[in-house]
Amino acid sequence: MPNQGALADNAPMSHHDIPLSKPNITKLEEERVLEVMRSGRLSIGPMQDRFEELVAQRCGTTHAIACSSGTSGLHMILVALGIGPGDEVITTPFSFIASSNAILYVGAKPVFVDICPSSLNANPELIEKAITPRTKAILAVEAFGNPRHMDTYARIAAKNEIHLVEDSCEALGSVFNDHRAGSFGRAGVFGFYPNKQITTGEGGMIVTNDDRLAEVCRSLRNQGRAVAGRGSIQSGSAAGSWLHHERLGFNYRMSEINAAIGVAQMERLDEIIESRNEAADLYIERLLDIPDLILPTVDAQCSTMSWFVFVVRLAAGYTREERDRVIAGLRMHEIGAGDYFPCIHLQPIYQQAHGYTEGSFPIAESVSQRTLALPFFAGITKREVDIVAQTLELMISRENLSRRN
Ligand SMILES: *Cc1c(COP(=O)(O)O)cnc(C)c1O
Repeated sequence: MPNQGALADNAPMSHHDIPLSKPNITKLEEERVLEVMRSGRLSIGPMQDRFEELVAQRCGTTHAIACSSGTSGLHMILVALGIGPGDEVITTPFSFIASSNAILYVGAKPVFVDICPSSLNANPELIEKAITPRTKAILAVEAFGNPRHMDTYARIAAKNEIHLVEDSCEALGSVFNDHRAGSFGRAGVFGFYPNKQITTGEGGMIVTNDDRLAEVCRSLRNQGRAVAGRGSIQSGSAAGSWLHHERLGFNYRMSEINAAIGVAQMERLDEIIESRNEAADLYIERLLDIPDLILPTVDAQCSTMSWFVFVVRLAAGYTREERDRVIAGLRMHEIGAGDYFPCIHLQPIYQQAHGYTEGSFPIAESVSQRTLALPFFAGITKREVDIVAQTLELMISRENLSRRN
């Protein structure tokens, strides 16, 4: 690991001996990047096209639109669907904040519903109950890569004539009931920050089967320019020219350098998912017997689980303070650990601006204060997993000891 000491202790790319996460970069990624550097074409070029094709193929969608981040992808989808002030979007409070921030960007109202304690995804029954005449969409999240309920969400959305947008930023490669993550709804989005299954440094990708939605997103990412060909710089007629803007767009493009990393990572996706699966198996085998520890579950209908992180939780009855001390203890032993995820509705910005308080979503809150993410990356060794497990066991028994005193 290069020295990343400048980062905060809880940053995903932590500086611990056994880091919380680590990108999987090989010679192939280096070669693809060099290809771009030598080509002289650094944005809007063939690497982006290749990356888009590879992701579309993988998801079985007709379109993939590369963009600057998962967050910008979510923002564009909601803009393209015409969601705005006065509209409600139902979503989960147990996620990374970007999923519901996208709803705020367009001026709509995030309506949170509580989660299922096993899948950690939004409870479908509560989604149905939360639908009002103002509901325009469900913004679903595959927590930690788990695609459970996505088909149910799709049925609810169809029945109620609202959109399903899939925030699949944690689930590239997951398959549930023969459907691939990202392809359940009107559109899905992936994120490629360095702690995700695959990375482009920074980057994102929208996938959809909807021609018009794809075209609008291609325009939105490129300053609202008309989409000519595959987004290349066009001259000539006004409608195709570089300084002709049809809508309020953004600069949410992905550079060719980032796309080059993405192409190599997609070529290695199966290998990476396989290696992460082995890591998860190592953990499950080693942690199974530790008392008071709840392990993640994978459903039988999930034929491929693409693990984003490996998150365990302390049994009911453990407090946030105890969990935090376990995390601090792991870090003290040079083991990266994270408190994935604090509830979104309890973040200061959501409490202040939107009036959510503690107690609003009891299951999400209870789970969230007991979860901890363990070091997880392709290639983690059995020895490293052993060290993590031993230390974790020690930290939990230390909490039990101090309880009894
Ligand atoms: C990572 C992530 C995002 C955002 O991705 P960025 O590329 O960092 O913008 C959005 N939603 C979820 C659930 C994520 O985990």
